[in-house]
Amino acid sequence: MAEETRASGGAESSPSEGQGQGQSQGHRPGPRGPRPGGGPGGPGGREGGRKYFRRKKVCKFCVEKIENINYKDVRLLAQFVAESGKIVPRRLTGVCTPHQRRLSTAIKQARNIALLPFAGRAM
Ligand SMILES: [Zn+2]
Repeated sequence: MAEETRASGGAESSPSEGQGQGQSQGHRPGPRGPRPGGGPGGPGGREGGRKYFRRKKVCKFCVEKIENINYKDVRLLAQFVAESGKIVPRRLTGVCTPHQRRLSTAIKQARNIALLPFAGRAM
């Protein structure tokens, strides 16, 4: 009656074999804390930090449906060239990327035929 029923094989520890890949990405620094502790703004960070009212920036060329920017149109190009002769960056003018590319190409062409000045001219 008193059979010693020892747990023979009952405590079978299940070997978790899924640990093989755990090593490669063990210590990930992770993204820098998304919440910058100590902000004076407090909770509810709505977009109220900007003083400037974000004007609706629309690409002038898209608005006027100008597809091909003519390099001879100096008056048009001059709007996007600073006094120094530099091309005004897109973030200031609001011109979209494809148009900015055409614009810069046109400006460079205009420079070549001396319609527009080069930026930082030596002489
Ligand atoms: Zn555009």
